[in-house]
Formats: sequence, C-alpha cells, structure tokens
Amino acid sequence: MLLSHLPRVKLVQGPTPLEFLPNLTQLLNGPEIYIKRDDATGLATGGNKTRKLEFLIGDALAQGATHILTQGATQSNHVRQTIAAANKFGLKTSVLLEQRVGDATDEYYNNGNLLLDEILGASSIEVLASGTDMNAALVEKAKVLEAQGERPYIIPGGGSNAIGALGYVSAAIELINQLNHLQLNPTHLIHATGSTGTQAGLLAGIAATHSHLPVLGISVRAEKSKQEENVYQLTRATLEHLGLDSKLISREKVVANSDYVGEGYGIPTPSMIEAVQLLARTEGILLDPVYSGKGFAGLIGLIRQGYFTKNDRVIFLHTGGAVGLFGYRTTFSHTSAYRL
Ligand SMILES: *Cc1c(COP(=O)(O)O)cnc(C)c1O
Repeated sequence: MLLSHLPRVKLVQGPTPLEFLPNLTQLLNGPEIYIKRDDATGLATGGNKTRKLEFLIGDALAQGATHILTQGATQSNHVRQTIAAANKFGLKTSVLLEQRVGDATDEYYNNGNLLLDEILGASSIEVLASGTDMNAALVEKAKVLEAQGERPYIIPGGGSNAIGALGYVSAAIELINQLNHLQLNPTHLIHATGSTGTQAGLLAGIAATHSHLPVLGISVRAEKSKQEENVYQLTRATLEHLGLDSKLISREKVVANSDYVGEGYGIPTPSMIEAVQLLARTEGILLDPVYSGKGFAGLIGLIRQGYFTKNDRVIFLHTGGAVGLFGYRTTFSHTSAYRL
C-alpha cells in the first residue's frame, strides 16, 4: 500500500526499536513479551502523536496554514508534541487545555507536559473548565485567529482523524517489516487507546496489508462498546481516505477492554502504579500514568487471568508519555506497591 502521495513531513526518528523483555517475561511466567518503542520517536521526548503529526503538519503546510490549533487535557502529550512539531516548521500554535482531571495536585497543573509546553512556547495556552466542548471551542478560536489574518489549521484532540491515523497505518507497515525481518510471528498487539487514532491506524494498516495480527486496545477513558464503535468508525474513515474499501475492517476485529480505566481519565489506579514500577524495575523502561501505565496494567492483569498461553507472543506498543510522571509525583513518592 502506497502512502507516498500524501503530504507528510519527517519527524519520527525510526524505525523505533522492537525489543524482547526477558526479565518481565520470566517474572510473569506467561507469554513472551516484546515492546515496540514508540516512546522513542524522538520529538521533544517523543510518543505516539509524533507519527500522526507527520501527516497532520504535512497537510497543514500543503493547505498554506500559518497557525496550528489544538486541544487536550492539562497533561496532554499530544499538545506537547504538536507545539514541538509546529515549531520545527515555522508554524505558530494556540492550544486549549481542559482541566479534565478534578482534584489534581500543583504538579499536575504546573509540571510535566505543561512545563514543556511553556518552554516550547505556544502563542497562547488557554485553560478551560472540565466538560467544555473542546472541539467547538477550537472552531471559535479559529474564527478569532482568522479575523487577525492568520490561516488556522485545526488538529482535533489526540490528532485522531483520518489524516492523523495515517501515522499508525505507517507504523503498522514498519512493524510488519520488522517482524518479517526478525521472523517473529506475534499472536497479539496491545496498547493504550484513548482518542482512537492509534488503534484505528494500526487496524487499517493491518487490514490493508492483509496481515494477521489481532489488536487489543486497553481503554483509558470510554467504556468498551463506545470505544470500539469510535475506533471502528475511524478505521473505516482511514481506509476510505486511502482510497480503500472500508469493508476491509470487520467490526469484530475492533476490540477494546475497559477494565483498567479505574475511576476515570487521568486518575491513578493501584494497577497502573504497579505496572509503572514493575516495568521500570525489571527492564529500566518508563511508562506514563495516564495511558501506557494503564495499558500495561491491562497486559499484566490479562496475563494473570490466564488470557494468554505460554506459547503466545505479545507485543506491547509503548505510546510514550513518561514526562507525565512529573505531574504525578505524589502518586509515586513513598509508594511501594511493587517490590522485586
Ligand atoms: C494519546 C496517547 C495514547 C492514546 O492514543 P490515541 O491515538 O489517542 O488512542 C496512548 N498513550 C499515550 C502516551 C498518549 O499520549
């Protein structure tokens, strides 16, 4: 499948590594566990949004935009990577941040991604109350910028539309090439799913190349049926954007598990804390508290429930976000949920 006719900029330092996790595999006594290091995409501490931004910034430049507009939660990894990507191509940015996590600490509101947003230097960072219709707020903001003579380009939350998802179509092709090269035949691909672009892009890429690799998204926010429906719709839209038949994806291939959300988006859970500590202490790899920590908690939980056999080979896609840990210092200091 050809992606080369689509507008794109180069941001990702890749292919990102695909690594075996020997210590964790042995400790959990379950399937072989591998990790695809999309935390190491290289842009301002990296993460999965970098792949989407290759196509989104490419499209913005093709349309003659001068100003990128986007939104996210206070500790948004997407917003951080968007400002960095726009800076690299001489575009201004305005961002809207939703105070989605109530009752958070000072660090949550000042450190981690927000500190990096400020260093990266958006033209404006506006903080809006929880529950604001953020995409509607973006449209309003775009009108204000247009009146000032700017040519705004709106990137939806998480960069999750049919253009952003192309980043994960491309990632699926990259992963399939690595697997062929290593002669590794995985039985599952697991990752944290939120705004859906990552899972939709992966599913579209896997379907379009007629590869057999089941994908499981561990939800960080929405309940299972809603998350699956949203992923399904974006997968179809992504295939159509590529000029392919949307029927390539069947509804039952879209699978999400919402058992690891806990009380809500961005709210720590004991299993997330354990997952972050466990991967750090066995393999020296840092997850994040909002997405990959809950995603990895899902992998650990499913292994303990006997969801996999010992002959299975599971790839966890690490989507990044570790700088978010600095927004959650009190969650991790003095905790000893896991001891080797
Ligand atoms: C945004 C994000 C995700 C979720 O990806 P979606 O494409 O929004 O589903 C997972 N992990 C991290 C670290 C993220 O920032």
